[in-house]
Amino acid sequence: MNEAERQSEFRKLPAVDALLRMPAIALLAAEVGVERMTETLRSLLAEARAAIAAGRPAPEAGAWPALAEDALAQAMQPSLRPVINATGVIVHTNLGRAPLSAAARQAVNDVAAGYSNLEYDLEAGARGSRYDHARAALCELTGAEDALIVNNNAGAIYLVLAALCVGREVLISRGQLVEIGGGFRIPDVLRQSGARLVEVGTTNRTHVRDFSAALSPETAAVMRVHSSNFRQIGFVTEPRLEELAAVVHGRSGEAGGPALLIDDLGSGTLLDTAAYGLAPEPMVQESLDAGADIVTFSGDKLLGGPQAGLILGRAELIARLRRHPMTRALRVDKMTLAALDATLRSYRRGRATEEIPVWRMIAAQPDALQARAEAWLLRLSALVTEDAGVRCAVWAGESAVGGGSLPGETLPTTVLAVQTPRVDAVAAALRHASPPVVCRIQKEHLLFDPRTALPEQDEALIDNLARALQQGEER
Ligand SMILES: *Cc1c(COP(=O)(O)O)cnc(C)c1O
Repeated sequence: MNEAERQSEFRKLPAVDALLRMPAIALLAAEVGVERMTETLRSLLAEARAAIAAGRPAPEAGAWPALAEDALAQAMQPSLRPVINATGVIVHTNLGRAPLSAAARQAVNDVAAGYSNLEYDLEAGARGSRYDHARAALCELTGAEDALIVNNNAGAIYLVLAALCVGREVLISRGQLVEIGGGFRIPDVLRQSGARLVEVGTTNRTHVRDFSAALSPETAAVMRVHSSNFRQIGFVTEPRLEELAAVVHGRSGEAGGPALLIDDLGSGTLLDTAAYGLAPEPMVQESLDAGADIVTFSGDKLLGGPQAGLILGRAELIARLRRHPMTRALRVDKMTLAALDATLRSYRRGRATEEIPVWRMIAAQPDALQARAEAWLLRLSALVTEDAGVRCAVWAGESAVGGGSLPGETLPTTVLAVQTPRVDAVAAALRHASPPVVCRIQKEHLLFDPRTALPEQDEALIDNLARALQQGEER
């Protein structure tokens, strides 16, 4: 487009007043108010001017009402909304971690819609405790003496350290002084809690004898932190939990009170990941059996429930946590408790791998995934023509568990691979689709993994992909 053509396109842009007089726009303005309509038109005109400057034509005169309607709808979109996760990362922290089971969603809906016995004892007809909900279920499933549910695992760790270790020493292996993500660093949390960090051993090797040498009457606890998001290989040693328990509990009766063994499992799991071809992720029951006094883990990682921090362990310690003032600041609401209790019910009925999405995804069979990827390819081939460098195929691929569990571990899958010279433009169009689609990008290819896309989203995913490929071509 040369300069004269550009000027002629600029002249096609109507004035705001002229647009407001168009009957379809006047109708919209009556609905949303003239002020909002004027603002919307101004920003649409600014966008149009930028587009012309970049060499694109002005909108057709008749297109303005539809543009205005789209812009208004866009502005009214909820900020937080559903996204199709085609990345193959099951517990994707950026995409909201665990999707909830149908039962958990129903339970949330039931308590959210009205009043509930959140803090009301229906037997006694008197005040009850919110901390009683889901507590018995957690104890039944894990063998723990008692349980406390707080806002998230980071909060759980903070509370445990502040309530049980303040002013005293906490021993941690140098190999476990980790950053979890989002700037959450174990040494920083320790400092904030008022406990004193004592580093033990070296980055790659820490032995039981390092802990026995560091234990003193000042020791409040030995803490183990699961290395959720990285893996050390080679010349590496960390003591087993049983060994730590023997050392810690052999020192009972010290001046400042007996030392505790605290185990931050990160994800934690109630089911054995090794049964699904994955490395073993530490199980909550095993940690308690091995002698941990306190175990903490997340509600929305491999447990597959809502965001929460679960603290399990000895009754007398949990009682002290429950009385601590920070517990009030970290408390969970009724929707969380409802979702958690319903999620735990799936485990109690032995139905976790059928009902809990995270486990359904982990347990998905390779042939079922291949069949879905092939069905996607078939539907897509009917919608797009393979020209302008677009090629579609199914490939063998790998899914990941993610969410700070099983780093480096993958599950075999089949992906839909779409080759296009405009990967970035197509990926951007997918992110702007409704619902947005997030996929993996590998050089010239967009990869879509059926493991993490919910089956009821199959049609929307492929229709949005076909549209994005067309838009990608237009840009
Ligand atoms: C994920 C994780 C946390 C933080 O849990 P949130 O529930 O996200 O607060 C803490 N410790 C470890 C080892 C983790 O993997």
